Amino acid sequence: MKKIIILGSTGSIGQQTLEVVRKYSRKFKIVGLSGGRNIALLRRQIREFKPKFVASQKGGKLGGAKLIPLEKLAVQKCALLVSAIAGVAGLKPTLLALKKGRNVALANKESLVLAGDLMLQAAKKSGAQIFPIDSEHSGLWQLLNKVDPKTIRRVVITASGGALRDIPLTKLKNVKPRQVLAHPTWQMGTKITLDCATLANKAFEIIEAHHLFGIPYEKIEAVIHPQSLVHALVETTDGNVFAQLSNPDMRLPIQLALFEGRREASLVKPLDLSGQKLEFRKIEAKRYPLFFTILQAGKRGGLAPVVAAVASEMAGRKFLKGEIKFSKIERFTRKTLELTPQISEGLTDKLSTKNILKVIEIIKKHFE
Ligand code: MG
Repeated sequence: MKKIIILGSTGSIGQQTLEVVRKYSRKFKIVGLSGGRNIALLRRQIREFKPKFVASQKGGKLGGAKLIPLEKLAVQKCALLVSAIAGVAGLKPTLLALKKGRNVALANKESLVLAGDLMLQAAKKSGAQIFPIDSEHSGLWQLLNKVDPKTIRRVVITASGGALRDIPLTKLKNVKPRQVLAHPTWQMGTKITLDCATLANKAFEIIEAHHLFGIPYEKIEAVIHPQSLVHALVETTDGNVFAQLSNPDMRLPIQLALFEGRREASLVKPLDLSGQKLEFRKIEAKRYPLFFTILQAGKRGGLAPVVAAVASEMAGRKFLKGEIKFSKIERFTRKTLELTPQISEGLTDKLSTKNILKVIEIIKKHFE
């Protein structure tokens, strides 16, 4: 039995990971779970999967599992750690697990966006492997495994375009949180759904792809594809284009990561292409300014992507609470990015978790 730890088991990815584990209950054994605020669900998961260890923000009685801090849970013995905590909270435990040599199935975006170099260095040093839990990166991973790296002209990931894809540009400024949270294809948590509406998520995914596969930025593109059936494409130097298609269902990349690339029967509905339209659109700068702002920060590297990711997360929270207008999310992010030299003043250029966490603190204070 393969021992699995899930960080963020009560979130959307965590719950779907447990669905796959439930289907393959003879292959996988849950040894650790961590949950956030949904303590009732965490209790139910503990009752069903009987992990040895559990980490919880709330504490209190949690069945037979031993309550330990998240950072301790991240380094417990396991064959695979699923990193599915949303936001910057997922950063440190993921890095600790990689340093300890644990193979990581990675759903937490911030790990590669904020600290891609650190994560990859840690993995290289310890021999840990990283398996992507994301439809686009899972698609790229599968395609790139079949193509000679020397023959890659460019890779493309797709974006559904989010809830605001078809809204008139004039109305964009005043959209309400409930409009943004109605995502057309994927059922996900609020942060990621907002990031899909702004395409911040797609900029993060380009940064992730750059780190995960070692592909230079000028060879990575994103395109709007409303149907969410094509997730990734790879173009080779001879002009061939290879695409990966599947029904949009996160359990597919999750399962592929849990099995480390091995193909097994899945819970995912077979794809019926008859009568399907496959549409592709360019990403409009006016509709998705945050995409370009974050991507620019990614290309600059160093602490800039940290500033962009944290500022957009903080601004996004303000928007969801009704404190700022939708259009201010990008403005706040851009303005904060301009402060990167001041923010990182006194910090050495070298990326380290300490510096990243310091920058995060400074930005959080800045937004209070
Ligand atoms: Mg994705």
